Amino acid sequence: MSSFSELPTVKPDAAFTLLAAYKIDTNPNKVDLCPGFYRDENGRPWIMSSVIQLIPRIQAKERVHADPNVNHEHLPLAGHTELLRQSKELVFGKEDRDLKRVASIQTVSGTGANHLAALFLSTKLNPKTVWFPNLGWINHTEIWKLAGSHVQQRFYPYFNAENQNIDFDTMVEVLQEAQKGDVIVLHACAHNPTGVDLSKEQWDNLATICKNTGLFPVFDLAYQGLASGDVRQDASAISDFFDRGGLEFAVAQSYSKIFGLYGERIGMLHIAALDVTATAKITPVLTQLSRAEITSCPSYGARIVSQILGDLKLYDQWLKDLATMNNRMKTMREGLYHGLLVRKVQGSWKHILTDTGMFSMTGLSTTQVTAMKEKHHIYLLPSGRISVTGLTTRNIDHVVAALEDILG
Ligand code: PLP
Repeated sequence: MSSFSELPTVKPDAAFTLLAAYKIDTNPNKVDLCPGFYRDENGRPWIMSSVIQLIPRIQAKERVHADPNVNHEHLPLAGHTELLRQSKELVFGKEDRDLKRVASIQTVSGTGANHLAALFLSTKLNPKTVWFPNLGWINHTEIWKLAGSHVQQRFYPYFNAENQNIDFDTMVEVLQEAQKGDVIVLHACAHNPTGVDLSKEQWDNLATICKNTGLFPVFDLAYQGLASGDVRQDASAISDFFDRGGLEFAVAQSYSKIFGLYGERIGMLHIAALDVTATAKITPVLTQLSRAEITSCPSYGARIVSQILGDLKLYDQWLKDLATMNNRMKTMREGLYHGLLVRKVQGSWKHILTDTGMFSMTGLSTTQVTAMKEKHHIYLLPSGRISVTGLTTRNIDHVVAALEDILG
């Protein structure tokens, strides 16, 4: 008998399973509303103009190799040196901020950043509990199960499905049970899966709670520039927490979505400490943890991002690329909202217009989600989350008609 026959059965990942089912669906009207990836007007992956300008697809490798300083050596253990500096500035802003208080290390994208944060905090901060939003990104709990298995997991109320908004009062009430040194996971902007973000006032209140309680925030920043459309605005909760002083926190940054470089796995973990003495201690510990797992990060994507962030013209083009994505998502949100209104589909849909980023909750039950797939070949997550990037001018009427059929 194999040593592994008694292994527990692992439930397949919902999103990736649906993607596989969508791919083999031969119905010509199929629609994928699952993706956490940007899709263009034809429902296809989109390579940003800034990326294409930098490295034409076919010649990509040759271009990189045309630079005699580029080779296939390891990056330094902490990552691409220039990108580390650029990332700090992108996240925290460069205006008069003492960025020496921030310890940063490159990671295997946002997932790796969350993982390293969990590994570092669970062993060096020793929290009793890690708090996640309810609802939230499903992988957060899995990451903490793996990298901080001794830390108790709890959820704080976040999304109120009835009014499609944040239940801030209940959130504050429940967080009173948090203890000094507990970790709280926060989505800096474009909350996944709800598309509903805290207001400036709520962030301020939360910062005070974290300070008074001694809660340690971990900001997940996977959509900077894809919420308000303004990269600084989308990271303003982070710079406000930093400017307040007296607060230490982490930022798990991802470059997947905001550069369309999902498969290149580029991310950063930043730890904002109270002073530079602490930072000097944190950096080697992060490096040691990372060394034991991956030695160093992939370099290819890091070079692409660094070159775009470091070149005024390409940077400007990147901002335009973000605007292209945001405008298309906005148009799709408007189209969906008006379609639902015209057909008088049951439900309150105003939030579709005000939600930020790629996602919105439809309120569909799991049975209704299954019916959408089986009757109409429209795929969404079992939670009822849709990604508006899956909508196009060609499929939006089909989606609205299907919602009318299911919801009445
Ligand atoms: N955080 C959130 C909230 C996400 O939605 C995602 C991706 O879906 C990630 C982190 C991680 O993405 P990646 O590992 O591709 O950077």
